[in-house]
Amino acid sequence: MISERAGRVKPSPTLAMDSRAKEMKAQGIDVLSFGVGEPDFDTPENIKEAAIRALKDGKTKYTPAGGIPELKEAIIEKLQRDNGLTYKPEEIIVSCGAKHSLYNIAQAILSPGDEVIIPSPYWVSYPAQVLLNDATPVFVETKEEENFMIQPDQLEAAITDKTKAIILNYPSNPTGLTYDESVLREIGEIAVKHNIYIVSDEIYEKLLYDGHKHISIASLSEEIKARTILVNGLSKSHAMTGWRIGYAAGPVDVIKAMTKIQSHSTSNPTSIAQWAAVEALRGPQDFIDKMLAEFDKRRRFLVESLNAMEGVSCTMPAGAFYAFPNVSGLLEKAQQVKDSYSLAMYLLEKALVALVPGSAFGAEGYLRISYATSMENIRKGLERINKAIEALD
Ligand SMILES: *Cc1c(COP(=O)(O)O)cnc(C)c1O
Repeated sequence: MISERAGRVKPSPTLAMDSRAKEMKAQGIDVLSFGVGEPDFDTPENIKEAAIRALKDGKTKYTPAGGIPELKEAIIEKLQRDNGLTYKPEEIIVSCGAKHSLYNIAQAILSPGDEVIIPSPYWVSYPAQVLLNDATPVFVETKEEENFMIQPDQLEAAITDKTKAIILNYPSNPTGLTYDESVLREIGEIAVKHNIYIVSDEIYEKLLYDGHKHISIASLSEEIKARTILVNGLSKSHAMTGWRIGYAAGPVDVIKAMTKIQSHSTSNPTSIAQWAAVEALRGPQDFIDKMLAEFDKRRRFLVESLNAMEGVSCTMPAGAFYAFPNVSGLLEKAQQVKDSYSLAMYLLEKALVALVPGSAFGAEGYLRISYATSMENIRKGLERINKAIEALD
């Protein structure tokens, strides 16, 4: 018998579509995938070499559950250098990916009946993690006209005496948009006033275009910092998704609880990957600029092409590697497709293009298109999408 807890989490809403795409690929059909959630770049050579060195030096044993001191120091340096934040080692935990840090946070701060405010569109693991930890996700719908930022009055209205936290993610997956400093400041002040945590998922921090500068909400005041649990990692910034290294920085009591939980579940993140992460944070960072320049080219081309399509409009994303076109015009006009899911399914069958419907992220009327794939694929995919859209009736 499966637990009641496991039953709370639904299978991914795009499961049927994913398996159809796989089936088509297995049949040798040339499906182009725009669902990708990881950089299509290889991990930089210096990082791989650091891992090989660690392996050869016998750094193959258990480490402290919350991470090796060297990596905690490298994270502290990074947070100081990039974010102007000062942390002590006991305010840092290294986990098996940012997702694991987020899960540990949920385990550490949530009790049955607690509410967690999640602005939508949202990354799918947030509600799942809240549900798995006996708490209730409270969704607040954000507007495209407001760059999908939760507004301070919306936050105020959603807070109850059960509210434990708000989860922010900027730059955002799926929208690619980020937060203005003024909105972050107001959100921070509200969190302080109501004594709730801000879980700030900043995994796409390094992927910002057009001179946008990342501002960590924790850096806005000491009071806000005291309520913030900052989450980051190397998966997106250093093309290290498979290495499973992420981290959190926050109040000592929260980090201590997370470390205790981690020590009883996974123990330490992989020793070798931790040494590679030290190199990733302390070594040369020019890889990021190169990756960013390539993403930027694709972003412009993709968004311009989408905006040229009938019934489609797309706000220029400020960061990450996703475009989030509004397709409500298309859905209104076409009889054949009634929502983002059926449109995505139609594009899979007719255009041989796999992408994710907005409904998977709690936002009907949108599609998410990842541009973590080659320019050639993007060009081909857009042509196919355009043709399929024109054929809609
Ligand atoms: C990719 C991603 C993560 C998790 O990354 P890890 O590989 O677990 O470090 C966390 N949040 C968002 C929004 C992501 O897209």
